[in-house]
Amino acid sequence: MKIQVNFMPTAAPPSSTFSQYTEKHLAFDICNVCNAQCYYCQTGFCNRNKIPCGKKEKFIEVSLFERILRYLKEQRFVEADTKIHLYNWGEPMLHPEFAKIIEISKKENCLVALSTNAAVLPKLPDTFDASNIGFVKISMCGFSQASYDKIHRFDFERIKENIEILVHTFRQHGFVGEFYIYFHVYQFNLHELQAAYDFAKTLSITCHPVFAVINDWEKLKDYLQNTLSTEYLNNIARDLLTGVGMGNLKPTNRCPMAPNLTIDADGRCVLCCLVDEDLGNVFEMTPEKWQRLHHESATCRECMQLGIPRLEFNAMTVDMERLAQAFAPR
Ligand code: SF4
Ligand code: SF4
Repeated sequence: MKIQVNFMPTAAPPSSTFSQYTEKHLAFDICNVCNAQCYYCQTGFCNRNKIPCGKKEKFIEVSLFERILRYLKEQRFVEADTKIHLYNWGEPMLHPEFAKIIEISKKENCLVALSTNAAVLPKLPDTFDASNIGFVKISMCGFSQASYDKIHRFDFERIKENIEILVHTFRQHGFVGEFYIYFHVYQFNLHELQAAYDFAKTLSITCHPVFAVINDWEKLKDYLQNTLSTEYLNNIARDLLTGVGMGNLKPTNRCPMAPNLTIDADGRCVLCCLVDEDLGNVFEMTPEKWQRLHHESATCRECMQLGIPRLEFNAMTVDMERLAQAFAPR
């Protein structure tokens, strides 16, 4: 489950949360599918409009996953402190062999992290061991059925129940990492933030608001180049807080996403967590080649010229707890 950020601008994260961006990590999508219909995400937009998303395999084969982990360690893409994010454009909990994937990552001594929309809970055996899962992000598009009707299109009550089950079950199975609710802030859900904070508190987990942005490279480019369709632009004007989330992007010559190896569920390397450009079979990738390809990439040059890598750093100065209190219903 995306964003995201894998590609989400953050807002005044507590230091423990901030480490998610500064720590050494790579993105390894174990699923190429998601069950949500988020309008501003490329996967969700395809789902909503019944457009094929263009990927070949839905779920990575367990044996391929294992071979890739070993190769990543051999090549030192993965070292002791590397967190492998098992998500990018897909929902990892949909993988029919989710428990086996975690078991293998544990066997290979790999630290992993998850992001989920919490619509589906995986089947877990009694022997499930969650002790190598560093964090779980739970993406929420608000804290009401009305918000869920607008974006994810899930039953909100079911999501809350699932979050409770997920937190308790993982903890029962040795999870000692952190759960974060990633509350995607839209214009229509600001007044729901406080309720999300309160809910998070009941479970002793963190609520971390992030501004919703366009999570789709082509559309983001069109937005910044003023070539988006009027319909899409109108929706942005209605839903997003573009001033804080996507405003004032100046060209840059560095990208925090570029060093992070990104692999899809077909075992192919792609340019980054935002851009699906195929960079070849993971077994032919080396750290030197990865660095060179980014250095030479015309797409990266265009992206940095548009200032897109700055999205990660925008809005850091917004104090979300105060914002939540300001918009809380009285
Ligand atoms: S839940 Fe995440 S991956 Fe799925 S459609 Fe929404 S933003 Fe995209
Ligand atoms: S600069 Fe390159 S690596 Fe960074 S976000 Fe843009 S396309 Fe991705």
